[in-house]
Amino acid sequence: MRKVALLVAAVLLLQPMALQSLDAFGQSSPIDREIADSDLFFQQAVSTRGQKPANTRAVDDLLKRMSLEEKVGQMTQLEIGMITSGQNQEIKIDPSKLEKAIARYGVGSILNVRDQALPIDRWHEIIRQIQDAAKKTRLGIPVIYGIDSIHGANYIQNSTLFPQEIGMAATWNPELMKRAAEITAAETRAAGIPWSFSPVLDIGRQPLWPRFWETFGEDPYLAKVMGVAFVRGLEGNDVASREHVAASLKHYMGYSFPLTGRDRTPAWIPENYLREYFLPTFAAAIQAGARTVMVNSGEINGVPGHVNRRILTDILRGELAFQGFVVSDWEDIKKLVSQWKVAATEKEATRMAVMAGIDMSMVPSDYSFSDILVSLVKEGTVPQTRIDEAVRRILKVKFELGLFDDPMPVTSGASKMGLAESRDVSLQAARESITLLKNSDNLLPLTKDRRVLVTGPTADSMISLNNGWSYVWQGSEESLYPTDRPTIRRAIEMKIGPTRVSYAPGTKISRPAGSPSNNTPTALEQEVDIPAAVEAARAADVVVLCLGEGSYTETPGNITDLTLGEPQLRLASAIAATGKPTVLVMVEGRPRIINTIVDGAQAIVMAYNPGNEGGQAIADVIFGDFNPSGKLPFTYPRTPNGLITYDHKTFETEDTAFGNVAFRPQFEFGAGLSYTTFEYSGLQLSQNNSTGEVTCTVTIRNSGSRAGKEIVQLYVRDLVASLSPAGKRLRRFAKIQLNPGENRKLTFTLRRDDLSFIGTDNKAVVEPGEFQVMVANLSDRFTVK
Ligand code: BGC
Repeated sequence: MRKVALLVAAVLLLQPMALQSLDAFGQSSPIDREIADSDLFFQQAVSTRGQKPANTRAVDDLLKRMSLEEKVGQMTQLEIGMITSGQNQEIKIDPSKLEKAIARYGVGSILNVRDQALPIDRWHEIIRQIQDAAKKTRLGIPVIYGIDSIHGANYIQNSTLFPQEIGMAATWNPELMKRAAEITAAETRAAGIPWSFSPVLDIGRQPLWPRFWETFGEDPYLAKVMGVAFVRGLEGNDVASREHVAASLKHYMGYSFPLTGRDRTPAWIPENYLREYFLPTFAAAIQAGARTVMVNSGEINGVPGHVNRRILTDILRGELAFQGFVVSDWEDIKKLVSQWKVAATEKEATRMAVMAGIDMSMVPSDYSFSDILVSLVKEGTVPQTRIDEAVRRILKVKFELGLFDDPMPVTSGASKMGLAESRDVSLQAARESITLLKNSDNLLPLTKDRRVLVTGPTADSMISLNNGWSYVWQGSEESLYPTDRPTIRRAIEMKIGPTRVSYAPGTKISRPAGSPSNNTPTALEQEVDIPAAVEAARAADVVVLCLGEGSYTETPGNITDLTLGEPQLRLASAIAATGKPTVLVMVEGRPRIINTIVDGAQAIVMAYNPGNEGGQAIADVIFGDFNPSGKLPFTYPRTPNGLITYDHKTFETEDTAFGNVAFRPQFEFGAGLSYTTFEYSGLQLSQNNSTGEVTCTVTIRNSGSRAGKEIVQLYVRDLVASLSPAGKRLRRFAKIQLNPGENRKLTFTLRRDDLSFIGTDNKAVVEPGEFQVMVANLSDRFTVK
């Protein structure tokens, strides 16, 4: 603790600009400070975690009075269809179903709403009826309702949707992430919902994976800082307040790295690499106070996440001292039988999962879990103490959320939805996420007097801007998006006047008919009229070509080829053949291969899935009303099989004696241009022999003619180690704002754990020897004795 305070004080002395905004820390986050230092943010976030001491006596008293059935009820989570009837907007609480769930089974949790987004007053009605029913039960234990507020309060009409996590990572701005999560929490709670199944803390190192965009990208440090920001924003300093919700860290852990890239398929990850790359985000978010954890729905090394006692109990409870509760993912206890085949019966599966450490089962569509678990305890196969342990954790979170004081939504909640200030935060996040990857001959920014053709399947689509978990699971209902938020096409028309803009889609991406399943592709790509787009290009001065993906998540988003859809590639080549200057805008959740069309575009703008304000943000960047500062949070591959991360080992990309082409990604991790330029100088290291800390100072100067933000990235390389070392690892970053000609000296402090790696004994070790520090084009070395 003292060390943290000293460190913070030291950084503050060196960076007086950060001081004013620190006062506001933990209240409402500032989104635009002049310096956002990753380590300062992280240390503060972890040390200001808002844990009130749990009311353990009240929990114990209640537990003593509960029957076995009531306890098992608390461990049961059902989906909303189990208590409602009707479809879509017409769903209503069905009194007899509600009676069965709450009065008879004492169900402790309900989740989600499928394929619809409800107005807030409908949410209020539903939550009130559930909590009324719970109040009437013998012990009156409130229900904890949960939804996936992945990039905003999902499933609630008029909520504010932000860039998806991959875009938030591209901002490298944890303050902005925290502010977005605060708004998400306030809007979710305004509907009467106190629990969100976010953040996703899986690491995006497998770009085929259809949930890649739900991650903060490939680097554990960037993801850790952003993940902690997300948790602190959701939970705040008083999670019981009407402004906050409990977080659920998911999907613990190793879910994101399937060998084939297909969702919920096997991963092979040895424990030292699990700890090196996949554990740090979870460990940090738990340190920051997160209250619940959701389990990996896949398997690692043949062990399905839901029976992995080593991960769910030994590491989570034993090492990380996690005090909250663990919820399963969707139907995952049943899948131990039907899919993974590690149990012959659901009874066996239930025993294995509960004994491994699952406290609550997202059943979600029948009562089998409750019935089976009661009989397992009666038979003595699951000890009563294990049930008490799980229920104690669940009740504790319910107390912390204030649900025992008042579980009812407040009517005034509606006034918090979709506020203008919230949209501004979303717009700022979208702008800061946008990453300029190429700008030959300074084609961008465009002047506003040009005649522009806007073309491509993502040019006029709110679905592509948002992707999955947007009002509905697959984000696929165009009619649910706000009509007053512009698509890219509309935003450009608004920016330069409709008479200067022509539009021809060229191709389209649609969803296959019927509900998505494992066997249907996410996207059907079709040519609409490429010749019409070509003709329009000839009449224009410049083309804005918007390519990418439609919406998808989980198994419906599985693909077997990262290459961008063939019709889109044809469109791009046809446009390139006109010779018109082209700005390629990629709106996509994972890096689809574009190597054949990169040379045909003079400028390339990576937009990720920027959310409802994305159209505006893209237009602001293209026409220079916003100076881009986003940096890629992953390595953009050049070829479908050229998948590698920035922290690969040095020999992996070296040329061979046999004339093989050295590996080169399309765009590097951390890349991103600005309309100004920055110069780095004076990297200096100094070592404190007693603490082992290494202080790195570096000066950055805005050498161009526009004000802009720069993301300063500090990498460390361990030159020789007993396990072959990574070529470099990101250890610190800071986002700074500089006026033309202005310079700033930054100081970063590396501690011993920044120099460590996980050895084959699964323990962190710092080995003596030489280390290299790299900041932009500068580098220097120091020796650990
Ligand atoms: C997903 C989870 C999600 C849950 C509830 C599952 O299919 O894997 O991420 O929280 O559904 O919607």
